Amino acid sequence: MTTTLDLIRQTGRLEDAQAVRKVAAQQGQQLRQFVGKVADQRAQTPTINFVVVDELAKTVPVGFYALPMTNPTANNDVTFFEVREFRGGHRITMVVGAPGSFRVQTLKLGLQYHALRHIAEDLVAASALFGHKTRTCGRCKSPLTRTDSRERGMGRDCWDARMEGR
Ligand SMILES: [Zn+2]
Repeated sequence: MTTTLDLIRQTGRLEDAQAVRKVAAQQGQQLRQFVGKVADQRAQTPTINFVVVDELAKTVPVGFYALPMTNPTANNDVTFFEVREFRGGHRITMVVGAPGSFRVQTLKLGLQYHALRHIAEDLVAASALFGHKTRTCGRCKSPLTRTDSRERGMGRDCWDARMEGR
């Protein structure tokens, strides 16, 4: 294919030079649009720092939650988390073991952020999954004997309390 630049090389005509400038201007614009898009994408990916994580943690009520594992194994398909009061705000930790003998494992900031994001996206689901798996209330750790309570992951009183923001 003959490009505009080839034409100019062959003919040296002025109007072709103008066409080259036009093409160059269009390409320049496309390049600026591309650079702009990359900058926008960077702006949309939040920088994960303590301030961002603390703000997000405040939106998740204190209690226990479970999230499905990204890579489940034969013995383990969920991860348990606890959100607790911490220095006037909330802090998320991972909990391992069984209710009554949970051991707390601290999480790196990036993992805290991702766990909080997933829990906050669907609080009820994360709460219910904890109830299903452990059969204990995600707010007070009482055993859940009722089916409807297990579906919520919380006893009736705790559910009402949470709905009222207590
Ligand atoms: Zn409860």
